[in-house]
Amino acid sequence: MSSILPHPEMARRAALLGPSPMDEFLGAADRGATISLAGGLPDAATFPVRDVAEAARRVLSRQPRESLQYGPSEGLAPLREWVAEYLRGQGIELQAAQVLITTGSQQALDLLGKVLLDPASPLLVQRPTYLGALQAFRTYAPRMVGLPEDDLGPDPEAFAGALAGSRMAYLQPRFANPSGRSIAPARAGQLCALLAQSDCWLVEDDPYCELWFDEPPPPGLLARGVSHGVHVGTFSKMLFPGLRLGWVAGHAELLRKLTQAKQAADLQSSSLDQWLLLELLRDGLPQRMLPRLRILYRERRDAMLDALSRHMPAGVFWSRPRGGMFVWLSLPMSLDARDIAAAARRQGVLVLPGLVFDVGAGGCESFGSCCDCRFADDPEAAAPARNTLRLAFAGADRPRIERAISILAAVVRAALHGDSQAPARPCRAVGKTPADGAVDVSHA
Ligand code: PMP
Repeated sequence: MSSILPHPEMARRAALLGPSPMDEFLGAADRGATISLAGGLPDAATFPVRDVAEAARRVLSRQPRESLQYGPSEGLAPLREWVAEYLRGQGIELQAAQVLITTGSQQALDLLGKVLLDPASPLLVQRPTYLGALQAFRTYAPRMVGLPEDDLGPDPEAFAGALAGSRMAYLQPRFANPSGRSIAPARAGQLCALLAQSDCWLVEDDPYCELWFDEPPPPGLLARGVSHGVHVGTFSKMLFPGLRLGWVAGHAELLRKLTQAKQAADLQSSSLDQWLLLELLRDGLPQRMLPRLRILYRERRDAMLDALSRHMPAGVFWSRPRGGMFVWLSLPMSLDARDIAAAARRQGVLVLPGLVFDVGAGGCESFGSCCDCRFADDPEAAAPARNTLRLAFAGADRPRIERAISILAAVVRAALHGDSQAPARPCRAVGKTPADGAVDVSHA
């Protein structure tokens, strides 16, 4: 049978694109009967259906032609103005001309990869980091360098060591996906001081900053005055994701290049969606929605922490996120989280192993066993972590969270007592399987 991709170069490119590592863990599940703690999806019950319907009617009666016509590639001027003012409120000093409206913040990540990365360009990412960013950047074949981190953020020594010659540092400063961590102010100051001495671009991705539970988070990184940087943001988490609108903002010259890249990609983001969004913003929708989202997600975070503390056996640890959508869980080192995820899926609970979010230390396949890099004596520390799980609490209500965690805990206990149905297997790096597969970013 002849291949659809007969040319070796096409096969190489296809291998760069896929498959989605999540398919292995989610693909075969019967989604109707399962409880998913796997997806990064907001709760659809929070969607402001009536506000959107009324705003759409107003837009079509007030701006019928403009909203159905092509518009500027940079985005609608008043929407760019709104984003610039919002970012100034976050401590980032910039003007509307430094804002590019994108088709979700996911497009901003792809455009940044297109403009900044060449094959083998060093790209610094946190360990762990957002899977959708890895998917976007991987297309441009950079050399991923994973930064180890503790509860305060990326390790400054490792960051300093990796910065020289690096093209881009992709960092999530607040309530990161998947770890739920924020970079502590003192650590953020150290990282910014190091960035200021380098030529490396800072890409700060900050989609969850409005979903705080106790108090607003401290400023991100760009607000500390990094000159070579951009902020990436989105309306997906503060309102709803179906709009597919986000932004990239900051360095004026880089923004011009990104705008050219966007023109080539899709000319512009939907005019109708932008007018609709503007109407919702002018109508004060974020001010009405956000307080409710914060309360709802805090309750669910508490439900998950409560269930974990009652059900999980000794030796299992988890984070206590102060915002965002995710709890990060560490199993005893003897367990492989992929086996736990597979066994939980058989019992109707979907979770994602942390391995899919982790590029390892050097981005090289041998993880330290090949060379005289600083991991030569400790290849375990350099390899992607096998014992972690991401648990999304935003999309399930308390009874479902309770049930899912009790099932997951029973799976962990069974594995610890040696009666897991899944066999132990050796460590395998993420995303190296050159098979085709549908990329389902809705779960990222
Ligand atoms: N960045 C991060 C860290 C995310 O978690 C997501 C969505 N899961 C995105 C970017 C992309 O979001 P969107 O395209 O909906 O703006």
